[in-house]
Amino acid sequence: MLQQTPVVRVEPVWREWLARWPTPADLAAATQADAVRAWGRLGYPRRAKRLWECAAALVERHGGDIPRGEDDLLALPGIGSYTAAAVRAFAFGERDVVLDTNVRRVIGRAWQAQPLPPAHLTRGEREHAATLVPRDAAASVAWNAGSMELGALVCTARAPRCDACVIAGDCAWLAAGSPGLDAAPRRTQAWHGTDRQVRGRIMALLRAAHAPLHVTGQAALEDIEPGQARCVPRLARHRRPGHCRRRVTRPVLPLAPVGTSALIADGHHP
Ligand code: SF4
Repeated sequence: MLQQTPVVRVEPVWREWLARWPTPADLAAATQADAVRAWGRLGYPRRAKRLWECAAALVERHGGDIPRGEDDLLALPGIGSYTAAAVRAFAFGERDVVLDTNVRRVIGRAWQAQPLPPAHLTRGEREHAATLVPRDAAASVAWNAGSMELGALVCTARAPRCDACVIAGDCAWLAAGSPGLDAAPRRTQAWHGTDRQVRGRIMALLRAAHAPLHVTGQAALEDIEPGQARCVPRLARHRRPGHCRRRVTRPVLPLAPVGTSALIADGHHP
């Protein structure tokens, strides 16, 4: 849930999920449509589908328990190296290297004097990080949690608070005069006018619908611009893949079929 989504948005949905489905078996017994609906407006609803599939796999392969072995975790739907490491470290107290964006930024600055880490995790970064994490399991968990928090709260992407940083005295980037941050490209995607905005509105309509959905014009999509709305009726009905050719220049479909198919499976749509 937390992937690319702030804690403040995730927390209420997470609490509702745990109250409704406290175990993998509980979630696996629900329908995929229930999972997609309960995802609410967190975005990237493919994650709800993956979570539901993961719960089913846990029941099928592990009797509803969560395995602690890396290979078993990586074999589950939707579990990559980051999530597997985070589960092992924070759920089981195992030594692992938990490299999220915040940790990568802290390591890149403090040890390598880089303003921001590369766009994608490199093998070199992973190998270097493995040399930094303490060998002792309990200490490694504290290191992972501490560096994650430091990156999230102090060593932030655009406005690091070096005056409040506990490792300022050892930071290579600060010692070098904090070079290059202004010139570093911004990676955040604008919201308004993007395919994510259109997908979000379509998913909201699908979640709220209890009958076949027909979108005729822009009335139900008040925050979508005319150029975007032109493609939405086709996407919302969604019988075959397509592309929106105005304003939304990338395929809108990769996420929409997830929710749509789930809702169809639940009997809400034709
Ligand atoms: S001193 Fe500044 S740049 Fe270095 S790790 Fe701390 S917050 Fe980040």
